[in-house]
Amino acid sequence: MSPTPPTCRSCGAAGLLTILSLGQTPLANALLTADQLARPEPRYPLDLVFCSGCSLVQITETVPPEELFRDYLYFSSFSETMLRHAAELAGRVIAERHLGPTSLVVEIASNDGYLLQFYHQQGVPVLGIEPAQNIARVAQEERGVRTLCEFFGAALAGQLRAQGAQADVIHANNVLAHVADLNGVVAGLGTLLKAGGVAVIEVPYVKDLIDHVEFDTIYHEHLCYFSLTALDRLFRRHGLQVQDVERLPIHGGSLRVFVARAPAAGGPGRARVDALLHEEATWGVDQIAFYRGFGARVERLRDDLRELLRGLKAAGQQIAVYGASAKGSTLLNYCGIGPAVLDFVVDRSPVKQGRYTPGTHLPIYAPEKLLEARPDYVLLLTWNFADEILAQQAAFRQAGGRFILPIPEVKVV
Ligand code: ZN
Repeated sequence: MSPTPPTCRSCGAAGLLTILSLGQTPLANALLTADQLARPEPRYPLDLVFCSGCSLVQITETVPPEELFRDYLYFSSFSETMLRHAAELAGRVIAERHLGPTSLVVEIASNDGYLLQFYHQQGVPVLGIEPAQNIARVAQEERGVRTLCEFFGAALAGQLRAQGAQADVIHANNVLAHVADLNGVVAGLGTLLKAGGVAVIEVPYVKDLIDHVEFDTIYHEHLCYFSLTALDRLFRRHGLQVQDVERLPIHGGSLRVFVARAPAAGGPGRARVDALLHEEATWGVDQIAFYRGFGARVERLRDDLRELLRGLKAAGQQIAVYGASAKGSTLLNYCGIGPAVLDFVVDRSPVKQGRYTPGTHLPIYAPEKLLEARPDYVLLLTWNFADEILAQQAAFRQAGGRFILPIPEVKVV
């Protein structure tokens, strides 16, 4: 138990209001090796709360980033959807901002260079910042993407600036939600950004999380769950302004915001920002009432899924799992579904194969295992890539295999 009540990660206000408790869970990305199975796994409370000061939704527990990210197993390039998304984004930004050999594009948490490679290939200088050593090495050695193996924050931004670095574009895709020092990172963006430059930031959108019951996107790596209202207040505090906003389908529903040093011009972008802020106010995203009811829907989904899986198992059906994802870990651990009903997990990422899922200890194999073992059902835990995976698994499905999609409601396809 923490000795003092937690305060808001953005505005520092006390008195955070509870939305949902997912219990004590192991770290969602902490896949185990065979000899780790016998050792006790650390578990941490997973409680979702709301700040009525700035309307930011967040979890209360902060697991030290060194424990979470040093040997992170998520390689962005293993998803074709992610690569296509990255290629489109880079192409568009190069054209719109007229980037060339004297520009600089920085990405925070640049992973394996999945995005910066598309700038690098067009002759635009890049700098990746990625704390996971194994992943930074892949970016550098396999893609030629210049990468600093560091955590980004105000201090690193200050050092880079002192060395003369000024970014025309800074990308932060799916990273703002992960950082413990939220204000330090946002201050760092302001420091590193050239006057007239733009930070392009993507975050999962809390409105989609609530609407589509995406409770499995809640895990210890994801500290914050943003609305535009919460982002707008955060950036303003650091002299930055949201200049444009887009809603994206990726990761179950995301926001992409374009942020510049204030004061920024008006224009059609800012009109879109004002329109969405207005909509959010009418939905009530700045009121706890908007989030109440979500907890009850999550419990109902858990009961439906348990009932389906236990019924199938009792009828002698074999059930496997697709996707050794962090999402999947939250879902299995919260629902209390493990080896009693599930046989094994498959995942395309070779670094996950041969390991075991956190908490539930299911063995992880390559997807080919599905055609070999021929389970009757496959629970799809990476539902955010459902179209891509169902297409890849056409042979398995034609042979009679069925997929169970858990979210937004339990469905067999
Ligand atoms: Zn707050």
